[in-house]
Amino acid sequence: MRQKPTKFWLLNLPQELSSEIEQSLPGNSRISKVGSVEEINLDHPDPLEASIVFVTPDTLNEVNDYGERSLIEHHNIQRVLIIDGHNRLDKADINEMGSFLGIIRRPVTKKSLREVRDKAVEIQELYTDLHLMAREISLDRELLARKNVQLEFLNRILTRSSSSLNVEEILTIARQELSEFTQACGLAAIFWKSNDQKEITAELYLPTIEDRSNASKWEETLLAVPERFIQKKVSSYKKINISSKKNLITRNPNPLKQILIPLYINNRAFGAIIIMADKNLKLGRDQLQIINSAGNHLALALRNALKYRDLKKEADFDGLTSVYNRQQFDKKMRVELKRHQRQATPLSLIMLDLDYFKNLNDTYGHVAGDMVLKKIGYLLGSTVRETDFSARYGGEEFVVLLPETTEEQAWLLAERLRQKISRTNFFHENENFNVTASIGVASIKPGPLTPGDTLVIQADQALYLAKNSGRNMVCTSADLCVGEAVSG
Ligand code: GH3
Ligand code: MG
Ligand code: MG
Repeated sequence: MRQKPTKFWLLNLPQELSSEIEQSLPGNSRISKVGSVEEINLDHPDPLEASIVFVTPDTLNEVNDYGERSLIEHHNIQRVLIIDGHNRLDKADINEMGSFLGIIRRPVTKKSLREVRDKAVEIQELYTDLHLMAREISLDRELLARKNVQLEFLNRILTRSSSSLNVEEILTIARQELSEFTQACGLAAIFWKSNDQKEITAELYLPTIEDRSNASKWEETLLAVPERFIQKKVSSYKKINISSKKNLITRNPNPLKQILIPLYINNRAFGAIIIMADKNLKLGRDQLQIINSAGNHLALALRNALKYRDLKKEADFDGLTSVYNRQQFDKKMRVELKRHQRQATPLSLIMLDLDYFKNLNDTYGHVAGDMVLKKIGYLLGSTVRETDFSARYGGEEFVVLLPETTEEQAWLLAERLRQKISRTNFFHENENFNVTASIGVASIKPGPLTPGDTLVIQADQALYLAKNSGRNMVCTSADLCVGEAVSG
């Protein structure tokens, strides 16, 4: 077996002794003569090379001044003491001098050098093993710490995302957690589904995108995702803004700076999240796996939230006209009456009934009637403020609840609505016709407590008055009517 290399440092030894050692040098060992410990240049010690420094009782102090421990710790050098043959030092005296790998009595022989060399090699090997073990332990600890971070991330994203039933909120949670985990800074998402006509409709959730041309590129990127997963093109989509100070995109799409997380339920993709960073994202395999798992949690939470939203929409809105239904109106009425009393603000109500609607159904058919109702719902939504609350009260009767609105303001809005409806042209099967509406307006001023149904009764009475005064007219509960009388 080839002997491991050994380095002999001769520290300030007399010439005669140095020669003695040189002459008895065992195989594969090298000698370096140095005048001080500092000269032992082991900036880059070879971890496989055993090292011995030879000292005599005279030069020992130099080593001791440097520190026995640091000699071993920093340079991994073992000390060997050489004493004269006639020296009367006994064991106790030597112990006092410190600990040595070996003690050689002169004359130095090949055998004695070989002995200390073998010991040094053995210790060196032990040292190397220990060193490797320590390194392994520290790598294991690093790995454990990394796994811990990943598990904490998964746990947080799971707990937080499943505690919400709101799509935007879950996407915000996803952005916060994923950006902390990956150094990404923005998040966008797409969800798709097929409608009754088997066309793909999509919702794009987009953050603030600074540049307009960037914005359209991001839209294109998101819209291309469904094609990749279900091989179908999106035929219509709507955009939802999820911008916040922290959800910002300043760059064009770039595959190196973004990660696409597909969202699957039962092996079917229904959406995807894209996270993007300012710099190239370099993620390890384990990190990508964890992101994938996070994607599974998010898919479940988002699917539930989307379902909940759709069901709630079905339950709260009128299917034909897309305005709120009667139950939601009653609920809103109770809330607004309480607010009106608490905050002493006026509250108004508009009640609208289409004129001679039965005739319209009879003349053009129910499908035409439905189309008119749908359009009236749209007109209501596009005419009133966001804080106003439009609902279908019954058949061809609609209401608009107007918080913080005086009777005069409500009347102006009602008149605008009446005119808008009467000027709208309706088409059905090559027939062209117009529709009018009679409107009743009622208000309650801040002040004395009003019974809950007063507003509805008064608006209904005003509507009755508008009908009796010739229709296509707005009347208030104060008996004031304006409009153009029509005949059915
Ligand atoms: P008036 O000017 O007095 O209000 O006359 P009108 O014909 O509008 O009043 P009436 O209450 O007699 O008739 C209301 C009609 O509205 C009867 C009903 O068939 C129709 N209607 C109610 N709901 C719907 C609906 O969802 N679709 C269609 N097409 N018609 C509806
Ligand atoms: Mg009617
Ligand atoms: Mg009616």
